[in-house]
Amino acid sequence: MNRSAAGSLTVVGLGPGNPEQMTPEAAAAVAAAEDFFGYFPYLDRLSLRPDQRRHASDNREELARARAALQMAIAGGKVCVVSGGDPGVFAMAAAVCEAIEEGPSDWRDLEVLVVPGVTAMLAVAAKAGAPLGHDFCAISLSTNLKPWAIIEKRITAAAEAGFVIAFYNPVSKARPHQLSEALDLLRRHLPADVPVIFGRAAGRPNESIRILPLADATSDMADMATCIIIGSAETRLIRRGDRQPLVYSPRSYTGGKA
Ligand code: SAH
Repeated sequence: MNRSAAGSLTVVGLGPGNPEQMTPEAAAAVAAAEDFFGYFPYLDRLSLRPDQRRHASDNREELARARAALQMAIAGGKVCVVSGGDPGVFAMAAAVCEAIEEGPSDWRDLEVLVVPGVTAMLAVAAKAGAPLGHDFCAISLSTNLKPWAIIEKRITAAAEAGFVIAFYNPVSKARPHQLSEALDLLRRHLPADVPVIFGRAAGRPNESIRILPLADATSDMADMATCIIIGSAETRLIRRGDRQPLVYSPRSYTGGKA
């Protein structure tokens, strides 16, 4: 192993799945690193050289993975932690920051670089038109790290405030009914015809994009590879014959649909 005394840690976003949606900066960061930490399907996306090492782990072990990566970097390694999409959106960059804050003080001296990536909601939005053309927010429906009551409160507040909402982690084994509860909650605050986009495996060969009114949206339309975008009362749908409709949120606020 040819390691200099001063190691580094780079947290890289690989994009939603299509290699063309990985930035040149991310590709260069991967080429420059020696040791790779990440959830194994993300590591599988990389074509590593024989001199580059994989340290794959399960998805639920994010903090332990961040600590292991930091330990290797402080020992002099050129370490790369990978995330799907953007590493700062419900992903490893925050876990690395958390580990540094709680960890030994010398971890604060490490060179840490976060390389952004195309996050799922942007990849899905681009396939549908411009649903994020006006104010929007992102909510993870995962209850691994926060209680369901907080999620309900945020969904209600976001819908009432007129945000377009992107749901990440829409389905969980521990709480199978949560997405139908979230959709019911939205139906109480939004018009029935608000467009909803179910974007599954965006940028991958098995990608699917489904657009339908909120009234018809059901939880079985999503799995863990789906990002759901729920329009606001302002969001519009342009029908185009046989082509997929265009969904967009107008740049100016009109106070309701014209
Ligand atoms: N850091 C990732 C998000 C991690 S949370 C990012 O920026 O995209 C994992 C969730 O992201 C999934 O449950 C799903 O909601 C969403 N997701 C990730 N990749 C996706 C893709 N290719 N298509 C649709 N949704 C995706």
